[in-house]
Amino acid sequence: MKIRVIGGGLAGPEAALTAAKLGCEVELWEMRRIIEGQPHLTPAHQTTDFGELVCSNSLKSESPNTAPWLLKQEMRRAGSPLLKLADATAVPAGHALAVDRVEFSRLINEAIAAEPRITIRREEVTELQPPAKPEDPQLTILATGPLTSDPLSRALAHFTGSEHLAFYDSISPIVEADSINMDRVYFAARWDKGTADYINCPMTREEYETFLAALISAEAAEEKAWEKLDYFEGCLPIEVTARRGPDTLRFGPMKPVGLRDPRTGKTPWAVVQLRKENIRADSYNLVGFQNHLKFGEQARVLRLIPGLENAKFLRYGQIHRNTFINAPAILDETLRMKSHPWLMIAGQLSGVEGYTESIATGLLAGLYAAQIARGLTPTPAPRASCLGSMIHAITNAEIKHFQPTNITFDLIEPLDEETRKKIRDKKERHRLQCDHALAAFHTWWAAVQ
Ligand SMILES: Cc1cc2nc3c(=O)[nH]c(=O)nc-3n(C[C@H](O)[C@H](O)[C@H](O)COP(=O)(O)OP(=O)(O)OC[C@H]3O[C@@H](n4cnc5c(N)ncnc54)[C@H](O)[C@@H]3O)c2cc1C
Repeated sequence: MKIRVIGGGLAGPEAALTAAKLGCEVELWEMRRIIEGQPHLTPAHQTTDFGELVCSNSLKSESPNTAPWLLKQEMRRAGSPLLKLADATAVPAGHALAVDRVEFSRLINEAIAAEPRITIRREEVTELQPPAKPEDPQLTILATGPLTSDPLSRALAHFTGSEHLAFYDSISPIVEADSINMDRVYFAARWDKGTADYINCPMTREEYETFLAALISAEAAEEKAWEKLDYFEGCLPIEVTARRGPDTLRFGPMKPVGLRDPRTGKTPWAVVQLRKENIRADSYNLVGFQNHLKFGEQARVLRLIPGLENAKFLRYGQIHRNTFINAPAILDETLRMKSHPWLMIAGQLSGVEGYTESIATGLLAGLYAAQIARGLTPTPAPRASCLGSMIHAITNAEIKHFQPTNITFDLIEPLDEETRKKIRDKKERHRLQCDHALAAFHTWWAAVQ
């Protein structure tokens, strides 16, 4: 069976090499090319090479028992072609896997050129069509990344519905629950409607004014010209809202009405609400606090919020250009569109974030496509594995609040309650979770081989 892979960044080459190695004929389409001596690139890419790393050269931590390490361990064991080339081109970078980006891309180009089952098509794809004839590619893996070209984005929106295709990230910071000073906050639901699931950080007038002054003067993250965004009114960066007037936040995301502090019986001057990130409630996001500030500045300013003085940030707020689908509404656990199973989505477009995560979804898409080509029903990576946890996280997230995600420990299947209670040391708990994930991975991998 023939497979079409669109996108020659990270996920596309990984999917193409994986599927080809498993016996599939693959067409690999990439729009970056030289036309009449002129390079035609995306706004972020600088070469026409496959596997170009557009910014940093790091594939994140290699420290044992961290989430990025676990993900890479599973990918290595599953024979990830790109990770093998990353290992071969590694440069010293402390506890991280960093690569010589030029060598990395060169080896990917070579690997693709050496694979007789891959045909390269240097063209922009502007339409998406289901297979019409038996000789057509029966599956399409779309891996065109955060800067998917406009015509193709429009074609994709036809299949996803425009409400399920986003063009920028609007990420609120996430803090570790253990790092919140619970003596200074309280649980409550606005007007006591529903269960008291939100943590509320109350502010006095003085605290609010100090916070506002720090927020307004905080240094913004660098913005490339092509990244300039027309923010939607409903999703403004918090610092932009703050600059509109001294009370704008108190009537917006920091609205205190209906949130009486049970300890004082009074309504605070302003309130920051924290919402659970997951069922275990071991991490919380700051509701409506998407922002475009430097990470260091975020830490400094957000730690002025009562209760967050010593907050540990699992993720900082961000707003940047990024095309991605609403994975929980659209994808199944084998990365196929539920309504159009001939179309698979991989890479950043699928709702993951980061180089390694993008490569990982390419690996899975290539593997599942090869299984389908053999007439099998693809077996998704189990929830207990790191690969499975990552896909579980994007396909089971809340549809209304979906935002792309990196691999972090809070996505990985937790230990059972009894073990969690027994083992208080976090490092030891993480080690056990990693052992558990790798064992689940091995069982799955042995069965799908
Ligand atoms: C500016 C920027 C900086 C980033 N920095 C980092 C970082 O430092 N670390 C990190 O972990 N992650 C980073 N990311 C996020 C993400 O990890 C990368 O974007 C990563 O390259 C995603 O891999 P991908 O394969 O999904 O997409 P890409 O690597 O972008 O590959 C997609 C490919 O599809 C091609 N394409 C697009 N449209 C079409 C079309 N219509 N027809 C044919 N081909 C098409 C593109 O030319 C491109 O080659 C960054 C993202 C951006 C935008």
